[in-house]
Amino acid sequence: MSVPGPINARLSLRAAGDMGPSSGPNPLRDRWLLQHGYAPESTALRRQTHSRQVVVVERESAAACHIEADGMLSADRDLSLAVTVADCMPIFLFDRATGAFGLLHSGWKGTGVAAIALELMRRHWGIEAADLDVVLGPCIGACCYRVDETRARAYAAEWGGAAVRTGPEAAYYLDLRAANIALLQERGVARITVVSDCTVCNERLGSFRREGAERFTRMLAVMTGATGQEQEL
Ligand SMILES: [Zn+2]
Repeated sequence: MSVPGPINARLSLRAAGDMGPSSGPNPLRDRWLLQHGYAPESTALRRQTHSRQVVVVERESAAACHIEADGMLSADRDLSLAVTVADCMPIFLFDRATGAFGLLHSGWKGTGVAAIALELMRRHWGIEAADLDVVLGPCIGACCYRVDETRARAYAAEWGGAAVRTGPEAAYYLDLRAANIALLQERGVARITVVSDCTVCNERLGSFRREGAERFTRMLAVMTGATGQEQEL
């Protein structure tokens, strides 16, 4: 699946197989990267822990996949960044002027990692949020993300009422997209593209909830700072 807009990025589908773990080697993942024009040796992955930790990746540190982080930023167009996802949302950031780019892994616990990334892009390269193109990739939708009341209330307290929906029988559903759109817009991001596929509903996509903990498929989201062509999903 290609990512829309000026961002040069792709997401592997479930049929391509399990692309994890992010913190260790995977020959299948290397083959998929090569097939799609990304060099495995210059594609950075990090050990993902559902944190809000964001790091800047440079050529020397590209291969350090033991480092814990759920967000990566770079301004080196010869590098690619990659995260694995299965219900969590991949978030792509791109600054057309400098070519700086970022890729984040954001589930419910890591919501807010996008705010950290914006702050770091401003501090590191002087990039304003208003200049960024941001794409929110496929994730578990509010249609399927039922949670208990305690988690729902905590999420709404931090990210606003729109981030939680209520269904029949007092069921609560998290809306990761609404939470991220609100926090990005509050910080000045104007160009946000949302890929609306739900990873649970769409069986072409990998999903922890639908496939189960024993056999879920981690998809690979990958991007570079090289400008991509306009591409259709
Ligand atoms: Zn759904």
